[in-house]
Amino acid sequence: MKFISTRGQAPELCFEDVVLTGLASDGGLYVPATLPQFSAAEIASWRGLSYQELAFKIIAPFVDGEIADENLQAIIAKSYAGFRHQAIAPLVQIGHNEWILELFQGPTLAFKDFALQFLGNLLDFILAKRQQKVVIMGATSGDTGSAAIEGCRYCENVDIFILHPHNRVSDVQRRQMTTVLAPNVFNIALEGNFDDCQNMVKASFADQSFLPEGRQLVAVNSINWARIMAQIVYYFYAGLALGAPDRKTAFAVPTGNFGDIFAGYLASKMGLPIDQLVIGTNSNDILHRCISQNDHSKQPLVHSLSPSMDIMVSSNFERMLFDLYGRDGAAIAQLMEDFKQGNMPLSADALSRARALFSSYKLDDQEMLDVIAEVFAKTEYLLDPHTAIGVQAGRKTRRDPSIPMVCLATAHPAKFPEAIEKSGVGVEPKLPIYMQDLFEREERCAVLEQDIGVVQGYMQGNIRV
Ligand SMILES: *Cc1c(COP(=O)(O)O)cnc(C)c1O
Repeated sequence: MKFISTRGQAPELCFEDVVLTGLASDGGLYVPATLPQFSAAEIASWRGLSYQELAFKIIAPFVDGEIADENLQAIIAKSYAGFRHQAIAPLVQIGHNEWILELFQGPTLAFKDFALQFLGNLLDFILAKRQQKVVIMGATSGDTGSAAIEGCRYCENVDIFILHPHNRVSDVQRRQMTTVLAPNVFNIALEGNFDDCQNMVKASFADQSFLPEGRQLVAVNSINWARIMAQIVYYFYAGLALGAPDRKTAFAVPTGNFGDIFAGYLASKMGLPIDQLVIGTNSNDILHRCISQNDHSKQPLVHSLSPSMDIMVSSNFERMLFDLYGRDGAAIAQLMEDFKQGNMPLSADALSRARALFSSYKLDDQEMLDVIAEVFAKTEYLLDPHTAIGVQAGRKTRRDPSIPMVCLATAHPAKFPEAIEKSGVGVEPKLPIYMQDLFEREERCAVLEQDIGVVQGYMQGNIRV
């Protein structure tokens, strides 16, 4: 399968090359030139497949023979072997026709494990075949870093450097990263904030001359196509469990960078009958303003109790705009140029097509805390702050109560004890047993000053030859 850039000016890439590439050279994001389509009969034939079997059905058409079937199956099997629930993505009912899709059963307790476990194994396979080594460099405000480190800790051909803002991630989040003592894992606590970390990463991708001969940087944020692709699977898995393709499903998704919900959009385009996709945002509400008022203007970042959704601009939105504008790369390049001036109103046609499938709702911290408390009082089910946003967004915007509403639970509540305490439920979320010694484990981390020479020097000194 060929992959093309949303801005129309970068070379087409095959699957393996797209996995090793971050942004396209024209500044766009890579998307498949054509999407695989599944008929209702084919989807019906998948009823009863295990998560791993279903993942193979959905991912194989994108890989398109570049990796032999048995190797792809082995990569998938390895990626989900470390999940703590046999169903991988279990459904739990919390209300009438209302379901939670628990995506936090992976090693770091957030949905990002679905994509990053897979990406780590995929990279290792591709690199071994090519006898190539790469360097992963990423910035994190919490969940991405730990999921990426867990995904790559056993990779022979990857050295991974994750920057987090010193003293500004939660203790659980930091320890999930710094207690991984693998020889290829390097944590950098940067004396600065998350933006400083991200700028350091961006500058390093733009000029990679500091790397040893033959090495390149690989991105692990959701601009990497393989991450989006792996997330399509659980939409089909939940849909099938609730009666697809004979019955439609609606999904409510706590949204930051638009990666997770974009996978739902792709599932719908590929044949899964989806009635509605609900975008839930916190006070960083650019997507809610865009869908509800056609206001896609940048606003200052607000620090919320759902920190993994604290994002000013949702980068994957461009991938959907590409479709909404008839896959016209020049139009997208122009739109993004306009956006640099501060706003980016959508055309009437694009907006009405987006609204046909998407609804949106915004919650501030207080409303989110009230949802945690209300759901706990009625069901004793404890939502994490991100999931609570999805649940309420689903409730507030639901179009048809006869259609099952599936709320994606993106993190385990034990990752965010501060918000749980503030909600007043009066219980302390417990880490799973296998993580209960997290606070006794040895940590390893370099605290570095905010200077690109210092950071790159540290990397040069640690990249394995
Ligand atoms: C990353 C993250 C999100 C946001 O996902 P996007 O793909 O960026 O929209 C939501 N909740 C949690 C817990 C996350 O870690």
